[in-house]
Amino acid sequence: MRKELASPVVIAEKVLHTLVCELQNAGYSVIGPMVRDQAIIYDELDSVADLPKGWGDQQQAGSYRLVKRPDKALFGYTVGPHSWKKFLHPPHLRLWSVRRTGNEVSFSHDETPSPKYAFLGVRSCELHAMAIQDKVFLQAGHEDAGYHQRRNDSFIIALNCGEAGGTCFCTSMDTGPQATGGFDLALTELLDADRHDFLVEIGSEAGAKLMRDVASREASAKDLTTAANILARTAENMGRHLDTKGLKERLQENPEHPRWDEVAARCLSCSNCTMVCPTCFCTSVEDTADLAGDTAEHSRHWDSCFNSDFSYIHGGSIHSSVKSRYRQWLTHKLAHWIDQFGTSGCVGCGRCITWCPTGIDITEEAAAIGSTAPPPEDAS
Ligand code: SF4
Ligand code: SF4
Repeated sequence: MRKELASPVVIAEKVLHTLVCELQNAGYSVIGPMVRDQAIIYDELDSVADLPKGWGDQQQAGSYRLVKRPDKALFGYTVGPHSWKKFLHPPHLRLWSVRRTGNEVSFSHDETPSPKYAFLGVRSCELHAMAIQDKVFLQAGHEDAGYHQRRNDSFIIALNCGEAGGTCFCTSMDTGPQATGGFDLALTELLDADRHDFLVEIGSEAGAKLMRDVASREASAKDLTTAANILARTAENMGRHLDTKGLKERLQENPEHPRWDEVAARCLSCSNCTMVCPTCFCTSVEDTADLAGDTAEHSRHWDSCFNSDFSYIHGGSIHSSVKSRYRQWLTHKLAHWIDQFGTSGCVGCGRCITWCPTGIDITEEAAAIGSTAPPPEDAS
């Protein structure tokens, strides 16, 4: 149960502008949703005018469409192709560089400080994804210092979901649709013919401090009931479902299930699913040098278990077939991750389903392997 720092309050829609300005004045780079390239993505907001007012989306396996809403909701869409991991765990990061001057070489670590981020509109599944990445990057003895700094400096304004997308299944993963912790403030958009307000829950001292400077009123019982009804409606309208009971064991016991061959025939091994996934964290490092040989850089970039080179060790790839790579991804995500980190690697955001060019659906594949699993073939 989350500790209440203060009672929920209500702010008018226009007050969101003040909140964003206050954060910018406090030195935050405020990141939020906006329409770009026919999708809702996350990038730095100049002001709330950048928010996707009146836009929603329709998502299905392999399909994403922006649609105009009949109202002026600011957050009337579900998650798009971006996740907050691109800010906390950047796709490309220079780790160190080396310069040769005459016979001398000097190494320098990249110490460019990251901006202080304020994230606006973080969904509950995304808060859970951040908590999962924390387990990876903040492990005692293996801490990623840059991630630690970016995470510690961030201010999080969560958003309780008012719409469930066609590929969402957070209720199956117990990760939403209500934000229950890990935020500074949490908003619920209260919008009808007579009002456009936000219910604001306060989750940290920093959140409480920010709210002291903006106009608000205490939430009424009616406001709280309206917000609860919005969440209940969202939970009832999940586009997908995944039965997780016994799933880990069923997946781990069926490495030779015929469905792996079947899905491999459809999978392009393009890695889209891992790029859009808010929890996938794999990286590779590479060294580059200028043509004169005077400077070189050591950089880290996102990689994917769908790339055959990713599992290359001397002599060849461990996962040389598409079947092997898909099986590695799905069983890691939904089974081995639990052994490794004590939690599933999936938060049910549905991105991998929407952005798979061939419409492969993790919920369908997991169910197919789990529900009709034959005993493994006798190898003798
Ligand atoms: S499952 Fe889909 S998105 Fe993932 S690698 Fe295969 S084709 Fe690409
Ligand atoms: S595996 Fe798919 S549904 Fe699960 S968190 Fe990753 S992108 Fe979202």
